[in-house]
Amino acid sequence: MNLPALECRSCRREFDVAELLWRCPCGGLFDVSSQWRPQPGSELPVPVEPAVTLGEGQTPIIESRSLPGVRFKLEFLSPTLSFKDRGAVLLATLAARIGVRSAVVDSSGNAGTAAAAYFARAGIDCEVLVPASTSPEKLAQIRAHGATLTLVSGSRADAAAAAARIAERPGVFYASHVYHPYFAHGVKTYGYEIWEQNGGRLPSAVLVPVGNGTLLLGCYLAFSELVNAGLAERMPAILAVQAAGCAPLAAAWNDTAATRSPTVAEGIAIEAPPRAGQLLAAVQACGGAIVTVDDAAIVAGRAALAREGLFVEPTAAVCYAAAATAASRPGRSGQRLRDLLAHDDVVIPLCGAGLKHPGD
Ligand SMILES: [Zn+2]
Repeated sequence: MNLPALECRSCRREFDVAELLWRCPCGGLFDVSSQWRPQPGSELPVPVEPAVTLGEGQTPIIESRSLPGVRFKLEFLSPTLSFKDRGAVLLATLAARIGVRSAVVDSSGNAGTAAAAYFARAGIDCEVLVPASTSPEKLAQIRAHGATLTLVSGSRADAAAAAARIAERPGVFYASHVYHPYFAHGVKTYGYEIWEQNGGRLPSAVLVPVGNGTLLLGCYLAFSELVNAGLAERMPAILAVQAAGCAPLAAAWNDTAATRSPTVAEGIAIEAPPRAGQLLAAVQACGGAIVTVDDAAIVAGRAALAREGLFVEPTAAVCYAAAATAASRPGRSGQRLRDLLAHDDVVIPLCGAGLKHPGD
């Protein structure tokens, strides 16, 4: 299988994936080439066969006890205990295919953990940069896989900037879950599995936690590919959920000013997501909405999930928290959320395991 090229979203120039560029010389972000045609329904419709596998994917889907009509997809049962494994397997496989010896990633924790594991599996050196505030359990996971762990003081954006500087060195592969478009195509297996587990039908709505938006883009890719292939009638509405303390996309959606305060949802505390425009367009195109939940609701949601047997990290409880508080939400987005939840056909991902961040 040939490796699909990268195509700039701005100027449409294409680049061989082995050139190790992480964005276009014009400054634009990459998609997988529009010349490449995934084949839904045949083999896995991803740009590279996931050879460096750790058994990721095919996570169970179960009904919620506390929220009628809602099902949970148990992404925290992935090899490194988060859904990021779905993307990491493709980047590590790609790196092995093109003979890369050294990779760098930045992360708020889970993407770095996934990269550390999959690059270890591929026998490729990996440096992981995370904010110094990242939970100690995630740091322990990254170290255990043998990655070089660098703690960056400052924000998540500072970690990203430091990684991008390292990625400029010759021969270094920037295995970014934000910039490398193969990652979202790995994550889209989440959306395909929902379709399969739902008897070849898409649900009416899916909720996703959103920081950099990899799961949102993965869902959007999967659902649009299925609709375009005639395998589903219509896109589900994608409801993006942000933590109130860091909600730039919700602010843009509602045309209000973004504010910043601490949040327990460390995995989605992204102040300036590079793909913001793409995320907003995706939510718009499928009739979705963007809502926020505050830390009190997240902590309460996490506790409620644990009481129905499901122990997740705080970030992984934001969608549950949004659904659980839907009845009392003000405004148009609250009404939209209630309308969609009324369909009795809603899927919520539980993205990361509770032991990654046992406190709070
Ligand atoms: Zn360009």
